[in-house]
Amino acid sequence: MSRWPHEHHEPFNSPGANLLFEHYCEEPGCKKWGGFGNSPSPSVPARWWCWEHFPQKTYEQEQTLRRKLGAAESEETTQ
Ligand SMILES: [Zn+2]
Repeated sequence: MSRWPHEHHEPFNSPGANLLFEHYCEEPGCKKWGGFGNSPSPSVPARWWCWEHFPQKTYEQEQTLRRKLGAAESEETTQ
């Protein structure tokens, strides 16, 4: 089973926000939202990182996400 990182656009309104209330990137000194989680097994609590520090990403995942982020940024700048 692959663990595709999920994004939190509205962390305080998402279902389960009471369970995952705050999980910022665990990289020391990093204040970004930890939207990318990974855990080795269901019994282990997930750890969270921002995309920049997410250790499990593959080259394909990074390329796909970069395209998505680039598209979102261009949408914002045109509105
Ligand atoms: Zn980070």
